[in-house]
Amino acid sequence: MNQIAATPNAATAETVAAPVAAPVATPATIPDATEVTAVTHWTDRLFSFRCKRPAALRFRSGEFVMIGLPGDPDPVTDRSKPVMRAYSIASPAWDDELEFYSIKVADGPLTSRLQHVRPGDLIILRPKPVGTLVHDAILPGKRLWLFATGTGFAPFASLLREPETWERFDRVIVTHTCREVADLAYGRAIVAALPDDPLIGELVGNKLSYYPTTTRQDSVHTGRITDLLRAGTAQRDLGIDAISAATDRAMICGSLDFNIDIKAVLEGFGLGEGANSDPRHYVVEKAFVG
Ligand SMILES: Cc1cc2nc3c(=O)[nH]c(=O)nc-3n(C[C@H](O)[C@H](O)[C@H](O)COP(=O)(O)OP(=O)(O)OC[C@H]3O[C@@H](n4cnc5c(N)ncnc54)[C@H](O)[C@@H]3O)c2cc1C
Repeated sequence: MNQIAATPNAATAETVAAPVAAPVATPATIPDATEVTAVTHWTDRLFSFRCKRPAALRFRSGEFVMIGLPGDPDPVTDRSKPVMRAYSIASPAWDDELEFYSIKVADGPLTSRLQHVRPGDLIILRPKPVGTLVHDAILPGKRLWLFATGTGFAPFASLLREPETWERFDRVIVTHTCREVADLAYGRAIVAALPDDPLIGELVGNKLSYYPTTTRQDSVHTGRITDLLRAGTAQRDLGIDAISAATDRAMICGSLDFNIDIKAVLEGFGLGEGANSDPRHYVVEKAFVG
């Protein structure tokens, strides 16, 4: 696989769309292989890529699958075990292709290599989607809050392009908390494209509120979203009197600490956690383990 240079910020995000590199292996040698079609580097730590959608893959917007790359062959047996990780599908269920949004961990078993994929390369994708960030797991309501940190935005990139999201709620509030402004670039681009989307643009109308916050760099909304909610600042900025179980629903995808913190905030407002088998007011998923 060839390496492409990461770009420093959104303004210079580099999309690679032409198939240039030879595949790392052929579909015949890798079960569940699928071909990468485009790659965009957003920062030196974040990238997104698209790939062909296996014909057998059916999923609900917001779910995740296992993706990976072949591992190195064992020196004794010459067999290799693939390196697989959970990834939220960032594209909506109706899309012909699949999109993923990824961190680059320098010494990460998967992403130290995955960050170098190019169009034409093959990745492994197990077509068994699961997850709790789905419409089936929350009750109908008036407002839907999507709370993400970092790459936890990925399932919401799917749900924001899902017509059901806009049909079920009068207002959709997307919060995305990252360390620096540049880390918001992918989410900002997804949100910015919604009004002009040929399928859902009209449904979005004036229902969308975008509330990005940064914790290590000053921006329009500086601080953790949890602190901004506890202080009532976010509600004031968004023109919301009160968050309550009668009106508000939420989906959460962030680090373990963030998830614990925001759950406490929502429970304080009287919201209860739901699941596929027991839809309630909010649902949670980890954006990563560790
Ligand atoms: C349900 C679920 C969905 C996920 N969806 C995504 C996704 O859409 N995009 C994505 O990039 N990752 C996602 N992850 C994390 C992903 O599974 C891998 O951990 C990640 O790709 C890094 O893999 P790795 O082998 O390079 O490093 P790993 O050995 O898996 O991780 C090494 C360390 O890097 C840190 N880390 C891992 N992932 C992240 C992350 N996403 N953001 C910040 N720090 C991280 C952790 O401290 C971890 O201990 C998801 C995880 C879960 C459980």
